[in-house]
Amino acid sequence: MKNFNSYFLFLIILFFSSFNSFNNSIVWGSIGHKVVGEIAERKLNPNVRLVVNDLLGGESMASASTWADEIKSDPLYKKYSPWHYVNMPLDKEYTDIKKNPNGDIVITLKECIRVLKNPESNRDSKIFYLKFLIHLVGDIYQPLHTGKFEDRGGNDIKLSFLGQPTNFHIVWDIHIIESLNMDYIQLTDELINMKEVYFSLDPDNWVYETHQDVKTLYAEIENINEIDNNYINNKIPFIKRKLFKAGSTLAGVLNDIFS
Ligand SMILES: [Zn+2]
Repeated sequence: MKNFNSYFLFLIILFFSSFNSFNNSIVWGSIGHKVVGEIAERKLNPNVRLVVNDLLGGESMASASTWADEIKSDPLYKKYSPWHYVNMPLDKEYTDIKKNPNGDIVITLKECIRVLKNPESNRDSKIFYLKFLIHLVGDIYQPLHTGKFEDRGGNDIKLSFLGQPTNFHIVWDIHIIESLNMDYIQLTDELINMKEVYFSLDPDNWVYETHQDVKTLYAEIENINEIDNNYINNKIPFIKRKLFKAGSTLAGVLNDIFS
């Protein structure tokens, strides 16, 4: 009985600790990433969809979109954590900053495209970089992925969301999207009919755009420590546009790579 109790306690601790790191590490939450993957998959050229589907071994892009976050809890993959973001001062642009020797999201996105375009790349590295590409095109459109060093992209900015304590990064990863109370298919069904948007195929332009967005977000919360319904309702159209743009961009890049 004693063994059973400690085993049970162990399971509870394991559950809560994984839940916690899960919440902290997931970006755009899983719903946001899945929406981006699903929008992209629906927008792929049919022949490109076959190539992507083959590399993913039949898994959907929505399902594959969260793999790069899920592996973070494995120590073997710890070294890839800096690939998900680039922190920088608000008055500097990506081209001006000293690059992280461990990599960043822009360097990795370029590497994904390079490996996938290269006919010499082997199948395993294509699969690895395809999964990272699907995930990181989502991450790069989440403004706080280009936030400041000092607060780790908003992770150290404590505030409350409708009365619940949280941080600024998680508000943007998870809370606002979850407040829609839609699953990823419902949200994709709504967004897929949005007016087509212009997007670039160059990661330098993606990071530039996102960094302009994050400057606004920081300025707006300077004197706020409570995210209320006004803030949420004001940001929902913006987030929907960004999710649609990320999905369109991902489809555009893959259509360009594999056509
Ligand atoms: Zn990520």
